[in-house]
Amino acid sequence: MLFDLLIPWIIAGASITWLVVMWQHRPPMPRITLPVHTAPEPAQNPAEVVVEAIDVGVLFVRHDGVILMHNPAATALLQLPESAIGRTIISVVRDHQFDEFVRAVAYHCEADEMLLPQRNPARTLRINARPIIQPTNDVVVIVVVRDVTQLSQLERARRDMVASVSHELRTPLAALKLLSETIATNPPPDIVQRMAGRISDEVDTLIRLVNDLHDLSQIEAGRIALQMADTPPAQLLWRARERIQPQADAHHITIQVDIPAQLPQILVDVGRIDQVLLNLLHNAVKYTPDNGYITISAAPVQIPSSVQLPDGIPHDHPSGAWLIISVSDTGVGIPAEHLPRIFERFYKVDQARTRGSGTGLGLAIARHLVEGHGGRIWVTSTVGVGTTFCCTLPTAD
Ligand code: ADP
Repeated sequence: MLFDLLIPWIIAGASITWLVVMWQHRPPMPRITLPVHTAPEPAQNPAEVVVEAIDVGVLFVRHDGVILMHNPAATALLQLPESAIGRTIISVVRDHQFDEFVRAVAYHCEADEMLLPQRNPARTLRINARPIIQPTNDVVVIVVVRDVTQLSQLERARRDMVASVSHELRTPLAALKLLSETIATNPPPDIVQRMAGRISDEVDTLIRLVNDLHDLSQIEAGRIALQMADTPPAQLLWRARERIQPQADAHHITIQVDIPAQLPQILVDVGRIDQVLLNLLHNAVKYTPDNGYITISAAPVQIPSSVQLPDGIPHDHPSGAWLIISVSDTGVGIPAEHLPRIFERFYKVDQARTRGSGTGLGLAIARHLVEGHGGRIWVTSTVGVGTTFCCTLPTAD
C-alpha cells in the first residue's frame, strides 16, 4: 500500500534527476552572429538637405547686409544672381526697403515681418527675419521668404466682398430706419399706407440680396450639384417669358419669342437655367424704357475644335453641339468700358439708369451656372440702342 503511494514520487524524482543530468551534458549552443550595420557617413547635414529642398526661400545675412548663404528657393523668389554669396542684399535684390528691414532686424536684435511686392512677375512675398547672436557676439539674420500672392489675393477678395455686402445692406437698412421713424410720428393714414409699401420694397431688396449671396456662395463653393435632364428648350423659353410678362406689361414692353419649330433637346438643370433666363429677362425689363422690345431667340450651333469660331462666340468655347440662347432688348445699353466687368459680382454700371434696385449679383450667378453646364455667357451692347446677352447650353445628343 505504502509502495503504491510512493511510486509516483519515485517516477517524478527520477525524471527530474534525468532532466538535470541531460541539461548538464547538453551540446554547446551554436553561436549566432548578428550582422553589424555601420552607419554610412552622412554626405551632408540633414538640416542642409531640408533647406536645399524646401520651396521657402532661406538666407543667412550678416549684420552689415552681406549674404552668407541662401537656398535655391531664395534664388528663385528674390531673383538672385548665381553668385549672391558674399555680396550685399542691396546689390543683388535692389530694394532699399528690404535692405533696411534686414539691417534693422540685426541692429535692434528683434524678429520682424514685412511684405515685399514684386512687379515682374507680379507677386507678393512675405519676409520673416530673425536675429541669431553668434558666440562671437556678431548678429546673423535668418531671412525666410514665402510667396503669398494667392493668400493676399484671397484676402483682398474677402475684404472687397465684406465691403460690398455691407454697402449693399446699408442702403435698404437706412431706408427702413427712416421709414419706421416716420411712422412712429403718427403721420396721416395715406402716408402710413405709402410707407408700408416702401418698407415692403426695401425688405424685398434685402431678401433678394441675402438669397443671391447665399446662391453665389453655394455655387462658388461647388456645393450645388446640377440635376441634368434632357429638356425641350422651347418649353423653357416660353415659360420664362410667361413669368416675366406681368413686369413687362406694367411698362408696355413687348416680349417676342423667335425660335425655329425644331430645336434639339438640351441637357440642363431646368431649375438653374430657369434662374439664368429669368435673370436676363428681369434685367432686360429693368433697363428698357417703356414701350420697348425684348426678343428671346435660340438656334443650334456646331462649334468646331479649330480656332475658326462662329461670330461672337468666346475664343475659349469648348467644341461640340450647343444651343445658343439670346435675350436682346432695346434698352439703355452698356458703355463699352463696362462690358469686360459686367459679370463680376457686385458690379453695377450706374444705379441711376435703372428703374428697379439691383444687387449686382445676378449676372455673376448666371455666369457660374452657365459655365457649370460647360457653356459660356457673353454680352454685346450699344448705348442707346440695346443689349444682347447670349449663352450656350449643351445639346442632349
Ligand atoms: P443688378 O441686380 O444690378 O441688375 P446684374 O449682375 O444682373 O445686377 O447686372 C449687373 C449690371 O449690368 C447692372 O447693374 C447693369 O448696370 C448692367 N446690366 C445688366 N443687364 C443689362 C441690360 N439688359 N441692359 C443694360 N444694362 C444691363
